[in-house]
Amino acid sequence: MPPPELAFVPFRIPMRLRFRRVDHRAGVLVRGPAGWGEFSPFPEYAPDYTSRWLAAAREAATVAWPAPRRSSIPVNVTVPAVDPSTASALVRDSGCRTAKVKVAEPGQTLADDVARVTAVREALGPDGSIRVDANGAWDVASASLAITRLAPLGLEYVEQPVATLEEMRDLRGRVTVPLAADESVRTAEDPLRIADLDAADVLVLKVQPLGGVHRALEIADAAGLPVVVSSALETSVGLAAGLAFAAALPELPYACGLATASLLAGDVVLDTLAPEGGAIAVRRPLPDPALLTTWAPGPEDAAELLQRLADADAAAGSFR
Ligand SMILES: [Mg+2]
Repeated sequence: MPPPELAFVPFRIPMRLRFRRVDHRAGVLVRGPAGWGEFSPFPEYAPDYTSRWLAAAREAATVAWPAPRRSSIPVNVTVPAVDPSTASALVRDSGCRTAKVKVAEPGQTLADDVARVTAVREALGPDGSIRVDANGAWDVASASLAITRLAPLGLEYVEQPVATLEEMRDLRGRVTVPLAADESVRTAEDPLRIADLDAADVLVLKVQPLGGVHRALEIADAAGLPVVVSSALETSVGLAAGLAFAAALPELPYACGLATASLLAGDVVLDTLAPEGGAIAVRRPLPDPALLTTWAPGPEDAAELLQRLADADAAAGSFR
């Protein structure tokens, strides 16, 4: 059977704020008979890894996603390592009932974290949910101390408190708050290893690095842990795949990290997948031709992005 006809459209969109050491997001949108997919691995990733990201884009373009089990996905507001009054305003303005609060920021203290989480708790009220994310910055002893100090404020879980799986497992024996693995999930094999090691209570999963919605669902099922679907800082084309994954999961006990469209200075669709009332309605907006022109990179950048895609394609087959 000949391969389905695909079209490739490079894009480059500035970030509103520098985030994850990048000031723009760039990639290639892939159009095929089933719709549009997004290939947007971060610049430092090698082809054997970006081939998974390409698999996700190719799936979106060529295969139908599973039927949704829900029509709306609750999402969290993300609170960076800002002062308490800024944190409070972010939460109030978001309309979200769940907040993810950055902690363990280099140059800040545990007192700063306690003050920020306290402000967020006051802004959300007693019924809101708070998770904190340390991005692996604590060691086991400081994580244990910090979680003991923060737990009375009401935490649904702590995301990647420590860097390694062995540390995660040790910490789980010391605290009662559930732990979520995020950075520990980089490849499709990682979630199963995390589950085997009893190293986390919750998995943060992203569609692109796992190779597509179907594959992500299989991995979630095999791991047998609750999943929080998160974005890879995508345009609404990539976010739609995250929504499809979240909508197809048998259980969705936590709000998802998909409210990231506003981190980009623009989008490739008119109907941006932004939250309303703390949730995003499940849908799949189409790219707008004028916006594709607006965010088209210059010829050199476009050629480089298409080369990354070709390299990812050539590396496919070197992984499961
Ligand atoms: Mg995280």
